[in-house]
Amino acid sequence: MSSSNKYHITIIGAGIIGLTTACTLLKEYSLNDNFQLIIISEKFSPNTTSDISAGYWEPYEFEFMDERILRWASYTYNIFLSEFFSIKAAQAGFMKMSAYTLQGFNGQNKDKNILKPQFSTLVRHFRMLDEYEIEMFDHLKPTSGYVISTIAIEVRYYLRELRRFLVQDSRVKFIKKKIHSFNELMNKTDVIINCTGLGSRQLTNDQTVRSARGQIIRIHAPWIKSVYNFDTNEGEAYIIPQSNSIVLGGTFQINNWNTSTIESDTKKILRMCSKCLPALKQIHYGKVQVGLRPYRDNGVRLEYEKTIDGINIVHCYGHSNSGITLSWGCAKDVVEIIKKLLPFDSKQHEEIINKLPLHEQLWRLTETNKNFFLQSKY
Ligand SMILES: Cc1cc2nc3c(=O)[nH]c(=O)nc-3n(C[C@H](O)[C@H](O)[C@H](O)COP(=O)(O)OP(=O)(O)OC[C@H]3O[C@@H](n4cnc5c(N)ncnc54)[C@H](O)[C@@H]3O)c2cc1C
Repeated sequence: MSSSNKYHITIIGAGIIGLTTACTLLKEYSLNDNFQLIIISEKFSPNTTSDISAGYWEPYEFEFMDERILRWASYTYNIFLSEFFSIKAAQAGFMKMSAYTLQGFNGQNKDKNILKPQFSTLVRHFRMLDEYEIEMFDHLKPTSGYVISTIAIEVRYYLRELRRFLVQDSRVKFIKKKIHSFNELMNKTDVIINCTGLGSRQLTNDQTVRSARGQIIRIHAPWIKSVYNFDTNEGEAYIIPQSNSIVLGGTFQINNWNTSTIESDTKKILRMCSKCLPALKQIHYGKVQVGLRPYRDNGVRLEYEKTIDGINIVHCYGHSNSGITLSWGCAKDVVEIIKKLLPFDSKQHEEIINKLPLHEQLWRLTETNKNFFLQSKY
């Protein structure tokens, strides 16, 4: 436990979940000098799963999209949107664009009842595609589809900027280390926040956490300015522009722990994506990457646990395919739990902090990189 009046919080994990949680903690405890935050992680950006991700906002792969998922996704969407319209957008790697989701392939499943996604009311510009727009994709012959305005972020840039912001706060310390047991931190911290993603399988002995292997190809294809999610005869595929590349994907192979790239997957991804945008057949160079998603049978685990050894832990892991999409929303809920465990002066806090836009309350560009300018080849 902490010494004297100081209280200590330890976050394990420095992917998107760990770093957004750290920023949210600093926001809520901005007035507390007697507070120390330690972020311990085996790996940091650019070597986390979050760095591999396509950084695209859309909650998916959750069979039961419950109230929590929608709330977390909505909160994150609004933060990303306001960040896009802020000074941060270029450096933190933001893109705002239309995203088309096409359902069915080659006219199959025509009779299937196509439902609006549950998040349709949370996003800007949602609409089902009418028959003329569907015709635009006649080469795929989808049976239905919808379009939304969304955000994709280049996550390695985003994590870099979040870390720069955190590093400059004297109350925050980063440690590179693998934790094998929570007991290693006993008597050293008041509370642990477990943001270890797939690492939770071992650390918490949660066997319902499994790898969902994702292989993608990053290419240079500047003519692509929209997201496309679509079905093919070989499975689902996606094309997602990021600020410096286009991500073609992908695979979602549960229980596959192979981090090497597989040539047959690469060829399949190119084949599938070329069905949507045939010019992709001419692409001969790309960076192939693999990431293991933290899939969990029952979805995200976000809850408080007191171990039999008396250690306070708040778990936040198992975000599968949607860790970026749910990040800020989950971080908010984690910090709400922390506020019940550790002293917090809400009244004084709100008076001061509420004057800034929410995304600025969470993190700001640091002084050192304000002179950033865009490099152009033209
Ligand atoms: C190909 C691909 C595409 C994706 N596309 C999207 C997308 O478009 N949109 C979206 O929302 N999501 C996407 N995802 C999913 C998203 O990447 C994950 O949900 C997200 O990265 C999970 O974040 P995390 O912080 O929990 O995990 P991670 O990024 O894996 O971070 C976990 C951290 O914990 C540390 N750690 C683990 N165990 C220990 C330990 N024992 N001790 C110390 N440190 C430990 C790790 O080193 C790491 O720093 C994609 C994933 C893949 C693979």
